[in-house]
Amino acid sequence: MRRLTDYFLSGFANESPFEKRKASYLLYIIYTAFIYGFLVLVGQLYYHMGQVYFYGNIVALTGVIVSLFLFKGRRIQAAGHVMIISALSMVIIHNLVRDLYKFDPIIRYHIYINMVTLFGVYLLILSFFRSKKVLYYYGVAFELILLGHTLIIYDHLKHIPQMGLFVWQHFTTAATGIFTEAVLCTWLISYIDTLFLQNEEDAERIQLQNEKLEDLVAQRTKALKSSNDNLQEFAYIVSHDLKEPLRTISGFISLIEKDLNKRNLNDEQTKEYLQFVHRGTIQMEELISDILAYSKLNVVERKFEVVDLNDVVADVCNVLSKSINESGAVIKTKDLFAVKGEARLLVQLFQNLLSNAIKYRSEERPLQIEIGCVPQGKMVQYYVKDNGIGIPEKYFDTIFQAFKRLHSKTKYEGTGIGLAICKKIVEVHGGRIWVESDEGLCTAFIFTLPAA
Ligand code: ADP
Repeated sequence: MRRLTDYFLSGFANESPFEKRKASYLLYIIYTAFIYGFLVLVGQLYYHMGQVYFYGNIVALTGVIVSLFLFKGRRIQAAGHVMIISALSMVIIHNLVRDLYKFDPIIRYHIYINMVTLFGVYLLILSFFRSKKVLYYYGVAFELILLGHTLIIYDHLKHIPQMGLFVWQHFTTAATGIFTEAVLCTWLISYIDTLFLQNEEDAERIQLQNEKLEDLVAQRTKALKSSNDNLQEFAYIVSHDLKEPLRTISGFISLIEKDLNKRNLNDEQTKEYLQFVHRGTIQMEELISDILAYSKLNVVERKFEVVDLNDVVADVCNVLSKSINESGAVIKTKDLFAVKGEARLLVQLFQNLLSNAIKYRSEERPLQIEIGCVPQGKMVQYYVKDNGIGIPEKYFDTIFQAFKRLHSKTKYEGTGIGLAICKKIVEVHGGRIWVESDEGLCTAFIFTLPAA
């Protein structure tokens, strides 16, 4: 007995659902054996059928209590089975007792109990197809069977005094029959369950795999994020620290130039070389500034506020006034809706787009730039349109990648980070940016930002 107890307890503790299931079947068999053994004993002691029904009800009640405990201990499957076994047993007791003693039950109750049993079976079949709701249906089937049976027992109890004495040998036979049927029921349920089990095991395996995969993705994402953060921090530190020595180089180049001039050693060749160095340092300074601006976009925390884009564009035009004048650009700005964003970043966005429009102007016509917007629900769509050299369609996506340029440095100066910064700024605000262009005719950068 102890070994058996150990067996089913270890079965419940076991990870495998199959072992758990096996253990729970064992539990029903032991349970039913106990109950009916007890019933036989009671039958021997009380030679009266009323007692049988009385103890029959106790069996059902014990079934409910045991099931409740099993439910509480999360042995849900076992609880469901105990419930149904005890309910079915009651039906069996009823039928056997009736048959053995030619007890003539009231026909309508007989039909009723069969209907209830059939309904329970129907629910069982239904639960077979909807494995998730198995216990629910078991429970419902049990309740209905028990209810029907209780009504019958109640009715029988009223008739029992006229039935004469109960013969215990017959009762023993009945109990053995009941036990056999209970075992058969258990076997049947266990068979149905193994069919469920296949599905459940598959589902459990898939779920386990999914969980493992999710864990792996979470780990990788964490690692990636950390290396990304490190990289951004690295870019920020490097670009920040590179600026200092560059300023020194720039300063000393100017000093050398002055010194050479003073000593009349600054011939054309030397002048040209020094200009190369000078231009190199300027380019490097721009590159470092752009990388710094780009990496800062990731590092700093955002504080959004209502920003008037008319003011932003006015500020940018002020900053770019020299190149606007030199290029003869005419800038038409429509009334711009305010946005919820970070003013500093929005200045940078418009500055990059406007300076590009000026830089990539056409030599064939005077430069015209138009800035406007169209509301779109919670977002506003803005555009910066120019009549410059345009962009071939195949580069519409690549130009937004960092360091991607369509021209050589000698033709148009630049670092190739400007649009990458614009993209990042728009995305930081929860928007999207794209380009539309007719090569050789015009370019429009369109982007969405959250309306204030
Ligand atoms: P940069 O201007 O420093 O090269 P950007 O990232 O700002 O870098 O731009 C990437 C490329 O997109 C540029 O090299 C240029 O070829 C193209 N481009 C950007 N703006 C315009 C524009 N308004 N008109 C035509 N081409 C443009």
